[in-house]
Amino acid sequence: MIQVEEALRLILERVTPLETERTSLRHARGRTLRTAARADVDSPPFDASAMDGYAACRADLGSPLRVIGEAPAGAAFAGTVGPGECVRIFTGAPIPAGADCVVRQEDTAREGVNVRITKIGTLPDFIRRRGENRRAGDVVVPAGTRLGAPELAALAAVGVVEPEVSRAPACGHLVTGDELVPPAHTPTGAQVRDSNSTLIEQLLAAHGTHAAGHAYTKDSLTAAQAALQGFRPYDILLISGGAGAGDYDFARPLLKSLGFELHFEQLNLRPGKPLVFARKGRQFAFALPGNPVSHWVTFQLFVAPLLQKLQTGLDVPRPRLTGRLAAGTKPPSPDARRTFWPCRAVVANGMHELTLLPLASSGDSSGLVGANALLPLPANSLDPAQPVEFIPCP
Ligand code: AMP
Ligand code: MG
Repeated sequence: MIQVEEALRLILERVTPLETERTSLRHARGRTLRTAARADVDSPPFDASAMDGYAACRADLGSPLRVIGEAPAGAAFAGTVGPGECVRIFTGAPIPAGADCVVRQEDTAREGVNVRITKIGTLPDFIRRRGENRRAGDVVVPAGTRLGAPELAALAAVGVVEPEVSRAPACGHLVTGDELVPPAHTPTGAQVRDSNSTLIEQLLAAHGTHAAGHAYTKDSLTAAQAALQGFRPYDILLISGGAGAGDYDFARPLLKSLGFELHFEQLNLRPGKPLVFARKGRQFAFALPGNPVSHWVTFQLFVAPLLQKLQTGLDVPRPRLTGRLAAGTKPPSPDARRTFWPCRAVVANGMHELTLLPLASSGDSSGLVGANALLPLPANSLDPAQPVEFIPCP
């Protein structure tokens, strides 16, 4: 039986990043950028007006100014602003030569061809200076960034329309269990509904990947081997259930029959002790315990970091946040095994506040509702008054 940290090391040291490909911005959401995107021009590219108003020279503002032209966004005023003159200007338009400030239109009164400034004081110049956001060559989106709406918009702004991203890892999910019925069926007798298929489908989507194959199989080695025939090539095979050493647990013989080398088969972990990790060349496999809570915890602790490293190529440690336990938290009883407890973290009064989910057992699939964090419990009992470190699980 090995420790959680050792298990993670054994997994990550075997990862080489996936190949890259170029994709359109439209299809890049959730993918991981592999080449840093840099600004191709200064931003803003010229001194620009921050307001609708009049571009003028600050020294002239005491007397009415003659309006000599107009500068709407997208069109520069070709002339020069001379003494006693100004140019009608709109937000985003280039500042005309000769002007050193913009007077907001609400601080002016138009009088025919002239404009009078009604408020003169220590107002800002309302000019966005060339390059004040960033300079050409500055990194706008670093390599290894997962692309969401703000990052994709930033790529569009610097003209990176076909970013180089990681190939999306393909995952196969083989769900095992004689007792399982699909969610739409009403279980009878000793049957239970399969919730892990839905869990994994959504977790994969949240980690920028998709299923290269999904199948359900009875607890039989030959049936499982047959079910895998229909899978497209995969980078990671996830087997739900059958990870233990019981008479009906066949994940280990299955992986061996496929040519995988097993690197560990048991962890000092609650929940999630029977966890198998295996590799064959550049393909990885996990047999995850079938209990829904264990399934989620082991995915978060081991599969998610593997998916991240495959896509980023970076060995960035999983972020940890500090928070405090919600008032009235009853600490779970300590256990000989290293425990990671599913929690709900919310921000309250400027602090992360953690509620330990009231799980009846690791088989309690609805007990995970609201889970967005894992709390590693200390070996001795948890002191509710002390700050805690937790792992966010987005
Ligand atoms: P196993 O890991 O196969 O020994 O299964 C452990 C427990 O998890 C059993 O009580 C199963 O009924 C339950 N279980 C296994 N697979 C699933 C699944 N796909 N969905 C929900 N519960 C499951
Ligand atoms: Mg089973």
